[in-house]
Order: sequence, then structure tokens, then C-alpha cells
Amino acid sequence: MKYRAMAVSTEGVRIMMESALTARDRVGVQDFVLLENYTSEAAFIENLRKRFKENLIYTYIGSVLVSVNPYKDLEIYTKQHMERYRGVNFYEVSPHIYAVSDNSYRSMRTERRDQCILISGESGAGKTEASKKILQYYAVTCPASEQVQTVKDRLLQSNPVLEAFGNAKTLRNDNSSRFGKYMDIQFDFKGAPVGGHILNYLLEKSRVVHQSHGERNFHIFYQLIEGGEEDLLRRLGLERNAQQYQYLVKGNCPKVSSINDRSDWKVVRKALTVIGFSEDDVEELLNIIASVLHLGNIQYGAEDSGNAFITTETQVKYLAKLIGVEGAALKEALTHKKIIAKGEELMSPLNLEQAASARDALSKAVYGRTFTWLVNKINLSLAFKDEVYPTSKSAAVIGLLDIYGFEVFQHNSFEQFCINYCNEKLQQLFIELTLKSEQEEYESEGITWEPVQYFDNKIICDLVEEKFKGIISILDEECLRPGDASDLTFLEKLENTVGGHAHFVTHKLADGKTRKVMGREEFRLLHYAGEVNYNVNGFLDKNNDLLFRNLKEVICQSENKILTQCFEREELTDKKRPETTATQFKNSLAKLMEILMSKEPSYIRCIKPNDAKQSGRFDEVLIRHQVKYLGLMENLRVRRAGFAYRRRYEVFLQRYKPLCPETWPNWTGKLADGVSTLVKHLGYKPEEYKLGRSKIFIRFPKTLFATEDALEAQ
Ligand code: ADP
Ligand code: MG
Repeated sequence: MKYRAMAVSTEGVRIMMESALTARDRVGVQDFVLLENYTSEAAFIENLRKRFKENLIYTYIGSVLVSVNPYKDLEIYTKQHMERYRGVNFYEVSPHIYAVSDNSYRSMRTERRDQCILISGESGAGKTEASKKILQYYAVTCPASEQVQTVKDRLLQSNPVLEAFGNAKTLRNDNSSRFGKYMDIQFDFKGAPVGGHILNYLLEKSRVVHQSHGERNFHIFYQLIEGGEEDLLRRLGLERNAQQYQYLVKGNCPKVSSINDRSDWKVVRKALTVIGFSEDDVEELLNIIASVLHLGNIQYGAEDSGNAFITTETQVKYLAKLIGVEGAALKEALTHKKIIAKGEELMSPLNLEQAASARDALSKAVYGRTFTWLVNKINLSLAFKDEVYPTSKSAAVIGLLDIYGFEVFQHNSFEQFCINYCNEKLQQLFIELTLKSEQEEYESEGITWEPVQYFDNKIICDLVEEKFKGIISILDEECLRPGDASDLTFLEKLENTVGGHAHFVTHKLADGKTRKVMGREEFRLLHYAGEVNYNVNGFLDKNNDLLFRNLKEVICQSENKILTQCFEREELTDKKRPETTATQFKNSLAKLMEILMSKEPSYIRCIKPNDAKQSGRFDEVLIRHQVKYLGLMENLRVRRAGFAYRRRYEVFLQRYKPLCPETWPNWTGKLADGVSTLVKHLGYKPEEYKLGRSKIFIRFPKTLFATEDALEAQ
């Protein structure tokens, strides 16, 4: 390129600027901060729409990547694409998930600072796909030795295994993750991936025993039944027909067009081997999966007294064989509850309903704990092992967080309460980190910081998690209270304790009257992302998550090696009450926040374009809603509060130096002076920009556009 910008006539520049503008009109801006009307939600959505129409699914807000699920395979994830983004600055290429991946990787390498990439969005928005793309990017582009190749393979293969056991078809997503996942990828000093570690959060265990209409149980059940070899199924006592199993028929949806259970089975089997599961491990694991199906088929009859008895002997036999427990003991435990009265142990018979719920509790416990075992086992296989320095740690890590987004359903229960609480915490982290980093940047560049107003959702986090008076504390208190404690007394207690809170509402009004629009079993939380009504039904049970002691005793005797690790005998003698589900979740979230706080974050905000899982459909109402609760407008406002655009001197100079005779072809003086000379030559007014220590800050997008257009006009 030759210097000739100022040689074109004014008229020529105008024409060329117009053609550049037309392109921008068509494909929108690739960074929302460049939107002229940045406070307008309509302009924001219009920009998304333009880009979506052109298959440009990625757009930035500064360094935050916004991604819209295309629901079709785009040719943008090839090896060539990966190469294009390698070692290249963010703004030199079009927005892409690889740019974010590469940027984190380079920061980790050059600043030796741990990174994390936080992926959020509602179910079906593309979070899990995004995390897989990032992992693939590292697997392909990072240096490798033979040993590293093994780690890369295992990292990649952990996905199909976790998805088989932790994902399911829901109404929103055919491959919906039913657990939260945080994965550290560990790198050595050469930047090669050498290990990994996964933390899992709150698996939706209730799915094991019940699915809503149009939904399925976890994939693994169907994979085993569809793909399992004849003799394997025979050994497990299973038929090749999902409709035979009570736990698989509730949703009335055994087959899904987008899923091939049979070929997925092969993928999972192979993945288990790559990760290092022995044949024995796999056998024990499948014994458990089959056992859960047999458990589900256990049926009860009732004696005249109302006491339940088991009518299906075959299932008990298979269970006894598959997990090595004593049939008689299991039968008793499935129909009785052990109580201690006056220091004596008594077996008290269960009625039909109680027996069925004991059976389901056992299935959930067995599946849930097996899932945790699976994650631990994968972690062992991914663990960084340095043979030369066995105690050494990896040089740095990049963490990937793929966790459930904000959920609002027709009917919201304990699970949604936990999930939305998690999103409040993440939002809080987001606010803290974006504002903080924004502020830090201004400070380190020596530029005056102008504070931005924003909604701090700490007040909602406190409402949920505060000691003694938060919702979780009150729930735990009711769970512990003997006597008449119930879901409704819990609600009553909430009303008495937090009833006056600005973000809490029930059907009761302060003047003693009632709100007609709300159910008597509901409370409403005014989340940062919107209002959600929670039905308290089942809160106590789900939070307690208790398994009858005698059932636990039977499983503790199991000969299945996985189950003996999952149900340790010490648990039986341990007098301490186990932590409730909500408290466990709260504690694990607190730990997660600590982990994330210690790292440098990048954000990927995923948006689902429509509810029909269709390509090319841009449902504006749905998208507007997500833009709102992902906090994108606020994010943009913060980003734009001071300066729309900032660039390091060398990058700015490199790009625009052809526009000024003094900087072309090379500027040999100080970078800051070069930039100063350049922008003065371009006619920037003093109020339009500021020069920091290493970067130029430009206040309005139009200043930059004019410069870009001049460049394009060359
Ligand atoms: P989430 O984890 O947010 O619930 P997923 O990542 O499972 O959502 O995505 C749901 C589905 O959307 C995927 O199974 C896939 O069909 C499609 N999808 C998501 N992201 C992409 C993408 N980048 N390209 C093509 N299809 C995608
Ligand atoms: Mg997912």
C-alpha cells in the first residue's frame, strides 16, 4: 500500500466513504461499541439481525463476545480458520470464538496469568458447543509432544462421556447439559496442554426417574439399549426397547431425529477407553446403569393393611446379580423404613406411595453419585503428571465455565431457584470484574475515570444466601425442624422473615389482603434479569435429599466397586447430618467465585435465536429478552461510558500510518508521538481522543469510522 490518502479528491473520498458505509449498513458493526446510538436496544438488535442474516454470528462488545446460535453448520471452524486467528490481535480479524480463545492463550503465555472463559446464555444458546470449539482450538493449535497428544485426546474425549451421562433431550435443546461444568485446562511452560480438571455442579437427578412430556432421560440409557451388543444386553437383562422401561417412557419420546443413539454408543465406548477406563470399570459402570432401569421397573402391590410389597421378582433378581446385593435385604429395604424408637431399631412398613418414592430416591442417589464418580475418574485420567518433577504444578491454566443460564418456566421449582441464584452470582462477578477492569485500565493509562451507574445485584445474592436470614438459611432451618415442618411452613417463614424485602413478593400484601395473580404456594423473586415465581412444592424434600438409612445400608454392602466408592460405610456411622443440597450448592458456588476471581476473565454471551431450533429464524421478542437478562445493554453502556474505542499505540500506528506522510512508511520516534502526529494530521479534535500511557482512547465511533473509511479509500 502506498501513501496517497490525501491525494484523492474530496469528492472521491465521499463516494468511497459511502460505499464503505453501505457495507456497514449491510453487515452491521462488528463491535457494538461502534454503534452510533449505543443506548438504543432497537439499534442493538438491528445490528445483531443484520449480522445474523449474513451468517456473522459473532459480534463484540469491547472484548466480550456475543454469539448467536446459527442452528446450522457454518464453514468457520476449519483448521484454516484456526490458523487465521493464531497470534493475531483481536481487532485485525473479524469477531470469532477463536479470537477469544487465542487472546486468552496469549495473555496466559505472556503475562503468566491464569485465565478463564465464562460462557453464559439460556439453554440451547450454544454454550456447550462454544466450550467444545475452544477446547478443539487448543487441541489443534497448541504445541504437542507424544505425551501431550494423549492429554489432548483425553480432554476431547471427556466430552462425549460427560454428555452421555449428564446431557438429555429437553424441549429447549436436544442435547441439553443437565449439570454445570467448570473445566481447567492446564498448560506447561511451553504452552502445551498437559492436564485438566473438571468441577461439576448440581446434576438434575430428578430426570432419572421422571421426564416431562417430549423430554428424555440421560442419553446413556438409550445409547446402551440401542447400541449395546446382544450378549451385553443379555448379561444386563435388558431388552432392546426403551419403551419397556418405566424410567424411559414418561416423556413419551424414545427417539429424537437429531440423535443417533446407536452411533453415539460407539463414540462413548471408545471415549471411555481413550480416557483410560478398564474393561472392568466399564462393566461395573454399565451394571449400575442397567440396575437403575431395573429399579425403575420394580412395581408394588398393597396389602389390605396398606403396606407395600414388591410384585416384580425378576427385577430384584437382576439387581441382586448386577450390583451384588442380597435380594432379600434389598426387598425389605425397598418396602420398609428403619426407625429408632426408645433406643431400639424397628422396621416400619411403607405404603405404596412411600415405597415408590424410596425406590426413586435410591435410583437418583445411585445415578447422581455414579456421575460424580465418573467425573472423579476422568479427573484422575486428566491429572497433570510430571514424571521428572512429580510435585511440580502446571505453569498456568485456562478455565472454561459452561453453566446453566437463567431459567424461567411456566412452573419453577427448587432447581430453577438454584440455577437462577447461580446466575445472580455470575452476574455479580461480571459486574465486579468488568467495572473493575475498566477502572483499572483507565487508572493504569493515567486517564480520569468517570463512574458509571449500574444496578448492583448484591442485594439479591444476599437475599438468597445471607447467614441466618437468607432464603437458603430459612429453608435449611425448616429442613432440620422436627414436627410439622412443610413446604408451606417454609413459605410462611419466608414471609415473616424476608417478606419486606424489595426483591421478594408473595400473594400476601402488607395490608393483609392477597394478590390474586400469585398462587398461595409461590414466592416471587425480582431477579436482575426479571421476575420469577417459584412454587415451594418439593423444596424441603429436594433440599434434604435423604435416602432411607436401610437403603443406604444395603447399597453399602454392594460388591460393585464403583458403588462401594460412592456409598462409603463411614457414612452409616457418621452422626453428622449431611449438608443440604442448597447449602452444598452455595458453598460450591462460593468456591467457584474464588477460582474465577483469581483469574483474568473473558466472556462469551450466547443467544438463542428462536425456540424452534431452526436456522435462519430471528425471533425478536425472544432475543430482546436475552439481551436484557444477559445484561448486554448495561455492559455496552459501561464500555462506552468513557471511550468507545481504545487501541495500543503500536497497533493503531501500524494500521493507520499510511494516512499521514510523516508516519509512512515508518515512524522512528516514540510511539506516542507518532500517534499524536498521525491524529493531528487526520484532524482529530482534542475532545475526541486522549492519549494514555500505552494506548489511544477515542471517544466517539464516528471519529474512528472516518479514519477507517479514509484507509479503505486508499
Ligand atoms: P447450550 O449448551 O447453551 O444449552 P448447546 O451448545 O448444546 O446449547 O447448543 C444447542 C444446539 O445448537 C447444538 O446441539 C447445535 O445443534 C446447535 N449449535 C450451537 N452452537 C452452534 C454453532 N456454533 N454452530 C452450529 N450449531 C450450533
Ligand atoms: Mg449445554
